[in-house]
Amino acid sequence: MKIGIFGGSFDPIHNGHLFIAEAARESAGLDRIVFVPTRGGAHRLGPMGASAQDRSALVRLAIASNPAFAFDDSDLADDATGYTADLLPRLRARYPLDELAFLAGSDSLVRSRWQRLDEILDLVSAFLIAPRDTIDASAVTEAFADVCAERRAKVRVLDLPLVEESATLIRARIVAGLSIRYLVPEPVYRSIADRGLYR
Ligand code: ATP
Repeated sequence: MKIGIFGGSFDPIHNGHLFIAEAARESAGLDRIVFVPTRGGAHRLGPMGASAQDRSALVRLAIASNPAFAFDDSDLADDATGYTADLLPRLRARYPLDELAFLAGSDSLVRSRWQRLDEILDLVSAFLIAPRDTIDASAVTEAFADVCAERRAKVRVLDLPLVEESATLIRARIVAGLSIRYLVPEPVYRSIADRGLYR
């Protein structure tokens, strides 16, 4: 089976994530997308952030209706570092017979310099990038500047429509008392409202 690994803080998961996962699955011929929420840390979770448990519960609600989507808790373990280079060997062990591709938004590659890209590329069959808003192709190319051509051949920017949703927007709207309905799946919307998350 060809599996696409989609890691993130998913704080909270939104329709943008779901569309990108579905479109990447289609575009790259993947059988399944596995959502892998990161445990995060104080640096990542601001005062508005939700706990790993809450974020995971929302991811499960969001993906439940798509049989090609799955949840994995590998990056929530107490000893998880949050680095993709440490996560992938865990996933390799968990899915020994499957081909693993990694999926990320272009902003995540440009926002911070990824550690151990060589190791990451050696552990995947493809590194798929979803385009995002103002990030141009040259910035993405720059992120892989130190990687040899053989490894870089695994990197592919997907031809997908741009999607505007962001978790930042969702959190900001909740704080402002504005609706997030239809920006997130209905069960996620209800759960966030019922539980008063992100207020
Ligand atoms: P935040 O606004 O808090 O930074 P986010 O919406 O980017 O959150 P993350 O959980 O950080 O959500 O994202 C997980 C992955 O999904 C990252 O690789 C990110 O680049 C990608 N992603 C999220 N939203 C989009 C989008 N609208 N278009 C393309 N990629 C996206």
